[in-house]
Amino acid sequence: VGRIGLVGLDGDDTLWHSERYFAEVQHRLTELLAPWADRTRLDERLVATERANLDVFGYGVKGFVLSMIETAIELSDGAVPASAIHRIIGWGKEMLAHPVELLDDVAEVVPELARRYRLVLVTKGDLFHQEAKIASSGLAEHFEGIEIVSEKAPEDYRRIARRYGVEPDRMVMVGNSLRSDVLPVAELGGRGVYVPYAVTWTLEHAELPEALADAVERIERLGQLPGVLARLD
Ligand SMILES: [Mg+2]
Repeated sequence: VGRIGLVGLDGDDTLWHSERYFAEVQHRLTELLAPWADRTRLDERLVATERANLDVFGYGVKGFVLSMIETAIELSDGAVPASAIHRIIGWGKEMLAHPVELLDDVAEVVPELARRYRLVLVTKGDLFHQEAKIASSGLAEHFEGIEIVSEKAPEDYRRIARRYGVEPDRMVMVGNSLRSDVLPVAELGGRGVYVPYAVTWTLEHAELPEALADAVERIERLGQLPGVLARLD
């Protein structure tokens, strides 16, 4: 019997692309709001608004759209035309309807892992959108369970581990966010595997504390995961 009791995989920017669509839309917003603010001012204002709204809207595209609209109204001092608001809403619908694009290696690695480990998908954000992405990813059948959570704090992972009858120190969590995927499970005595994505959302930035460094592995692409898990096991 190996040491690993449960392998958790993050969805957004670990299994499929996500953040780059947000970055693309934010770029469009910069152009739309150019009459009222330069890029630096817009980026600062938008992230402050998103931060303040997280407790109200949670994570995901819909909250992002509302934060963009709020930012547009504030930066233009109420002058932004309804046609611009309409465009922002249209971008949001486009993001929600965007086909799922899997990251490299995912289509091969996930079924391979499923033959060796108990796999759970742990993803954060809007329930409706996450369910749609999971369904169209074609990956659902490889997971013993799917956990869509509103936050990824240590207590959330403790609850998930308990649900699967596994001690948290036998859990490995794999994802592109140190803050949300890797560190909380390492804090519980489990292991984290960090797979950085090209773009990290400002509100997901985190440093790796020295004390947890031994509990964290870093890989550059998902194809390296089976080897790392075999070693940890
Ligand atoms: Mg992610």
